[in-house]
Amino acid sequence: MQSNFSQIRKINRMLSSKEISCEELTRKYLDSIEKENPDLLAYVTVTGESALDTARKVDKKIQRGDSLLPLEGIPMTLKDNICTRGIETTCCSNMLRGYYPVYDATVWELLQNQNAVLLGKTNMDEFAMGSTCETSCFGGAKNPHNLGHVAGGSSGGGASAVAGNLAAFALGSDTGGSIRQPASFCGIVGLKPTYGSVSRYGLIAYASSFDQIGPITTCVEDAALVYDAICVQDNMDSTCVGGQPASQSLTNDIRGMKIGIVKEYFDGVRDDIRETLEKAIQVYRDLGAEILSFSMPEIQHGLPVYYILSCAEASSNLGRYDGIRYGYKTEHYNDIHEMICKTRSEGFGEEVKHRILLGTYVLSAGYYDAYYKKAQNVRGLIVKAFQNLFSQCDVILAPTVPITAFPNNSAKDPVETYHTDICTVPVNIAGLPAISLPCGTDSHGLPIGLQLIGNSLEEATLLNAAYQYEAAVREETFVSVKMGVQL
Ligand code: GLN
Repeated sequence: MQSNFSQIRKINRMLSSKEISCEELTRKYLDSIEKENPDLLAYVTVTGESALDTARKVDKKIQRGDSLLPLEGIPMTLKDNICTRGIETTCCSNMLRGYYPVYDATVWELLQNQNAVLLGKTNMDEFAMGSTCETSCFGGAKNPHNLGHVAGGSSGGGASAVAGNLAAFALGSDTGGSIRQPASFCGIVGLKPTYGSVSRYGLIAYASSFDQIGPITTCVEDAALVYDAICVQDNMDSTCVGGQPASQSLTNDIRGMKIGIVKEYFDGVRDDIRETLEKAIQVYRDLGAEILSFSMPEIQHGLPVYYILSCAEASSNLGRYDGIRYGYKTEHYNDIHEMICKTRSEGFGEEVKHRILLGTYVLSAGYYDAYYKKAQNVRGLIVKAFQNLFSQCDVILAPTVPITAFPNNSAKDPVETYHTDICTVPVNIAGLPAISLPCGTDSHGLPIGLQLIGNSLEEATLLNAAYQYEAAVREETFVSVKMGVQL
């Protein structure tokens, strides 16, 4: 059985039956991007020529009567921190403007092998640090549901493109919520896979022990199809063991599935969001799932652990931008020290500099034990607490974000903004898979996201639970936006 919501399956059918050619379809997307992108700022680079080249290749295959691979001819985007050979890859930072990678990220190589049609690179917070997309050196991507609000971050451009029908799917990256949070803000689906199930080779590093690439789509089935295509073991990333395909398990019966509710996930969540999630819990009860209540006080330590460790890793990872090897270099300087100092001061934006300073501070000799080492120990406790929960339940249900999309330019205080990551970061700390899917809207019509968390490498169970909820309530929870390509 296939869902009726899958854009990927629909496009595959339209192409296979010759209802539309891949070139025509690609042109439709490119025309819509030209029209809508000045408002949405979802794309920072559009790759029209190469998209049309790929489309014509796909059309030739169709003419020959060959059958299409699942993602063949599907118009899609990549976040601008995923390396694409010969295509500018900036991380939306002045530091990397004009950087053309000499190699492809493994995920992009896998999608190219299927002839997926890359429409362009999408907007993001600078070096993936942020929750609004507004730290991008190009300006932030806007929310297709209301242009006065942000698309979220850091993969805001990918979410804006998919929700605004300017791509059938996007790949984003999630270090502390950057796939799930913008998916939640934009009323679509975002999957953060298990750490190590998808290769990070060619993903420009932010915090390497948390970073993970995953799909942003309009429905659960599409997330599963894209996940299946990219969860491949890779010798170029020694942490990548690959994953088990999930798209065949979506329709399994979930009667008797144990769904855990952790009370601390609901602390500080806005009332209307809590009420919407309670309705979602009832939907699961009606589907025959068993709802179990838990307490996991360790969740409260998620934010400090995440911000200490991710900044520490970032301060090390971003040490490579020294003006010597690649990227921005200052013009006037007297010696090498001044050159490096000016290059980094001028090339990085405010938020990135905050985090590098914080990271070097917690790693410095005098504070290492008190901050970095302590945070590593607490990370261990959080991992154990999740293991304990997953010995008693199959998936955990939680909010994705305690609020809905910020109005533009309203997230001024960084620490206040960090607090809104409270429901997303624990999963990255423990390396677990999690998905955000739409579950309703607030009184302003802004989408609310439901988060499901799975056990390590249990994407099939996670996506099965998500799919069943979506199948039950799609009509009430998914708000389509009247812009872009209407298939
Ligand atoms: N909002 C989080 C942060 O600012 C998440 C970022 C991410 O997942 N890349 O770090």
